[in-house]
Amino acid sequence: MRILISNDDGYFAPGLAALARELQSLAQVTVIAPERDRSGASNSLTLDRPLSVRTAASGFHYVNGTPTDCVHIAITGMLEHRPDLVVSGINDGANMGDDTIYSGTVAAAMEGFLLGVPAIAFSLSHRGHEHLDSAARVAREVVQRFIDNPYPAPGPVLLNVNIPNRPYEQIGPWVSTRLGKRHHAEEVIKSRNPRGDLIYWIGPAGNAKDAGPGTDFHAVAAGQVSVTPLHIDLTATSLADATRNWLAS
Ligand code: MN
Repeated sequence: MRILISNDDGYFAPGLAALARELQSLAQVTVIAPERDRSGASNSLTLDRPLSVRTAASGFHYVNGTPTDCVHIAITGMLEHRPDLVVSGINDGANMGDDTIYSGTVAAAMEGFLLGVPAIAFSLSHRGHEHLDSAARVAREVVQRFIDNPYPAPGPVLLNVNIPNRPYEQIGPWVSTRLGKRHHAEEVIKSRNPRGDLIYWIGPAGNAKDAGPGTDFHAVAAGQVSVTPLHIDLTATSLADATRNWLAS
């Protein structure tokens, strides 16, 4: 069993170290991650310059690129063997609902999935690593389940897992969820730099809007481990007829 691990918080992130430490007991692990925090990088690939892979004292490889670059490089050229599983995280903060569109954590897993390798993204629901050790233990158990019990799908699967920020003993059952939705992001924060120029900080994500039963938000708020199966087809199938009629009108 070979597992490729990446993240979007950078190769120095505590969540990456915790994940690698736990998964080393299950499989042969290779870690490749961005050289700096690339949270919010989504699925971007670096196409305007070459990329370098260096190795830290920890043995982790790091790349001057995005999470997607890391997994892409590893699978399409760097590794001698294809991994059996790509695991991303553990992100410092939740990736639920609309977050998944922007998330580099989910994107790293998604790149593995796009290249035909099953993949799991792990996020801890609150920033600050308070209960990172218990989240890492849950992550190991989920991966163990994946190894022991073949996932009942015909092809590779992409799972988005959010773990509540609680002591291990207080974490509830694992539940299958759908993505909820957030309100619009809060406004950009306008400020002035020291030279007096107007600058903008992107505002925080909105609060949950669709957080009802069955959603990732609902599960994590109840102390459960949210497991959302994702796919990539963006086609709005329900609008196919409307589009056809509109084009014919
Ligand atoms: Mn991140």
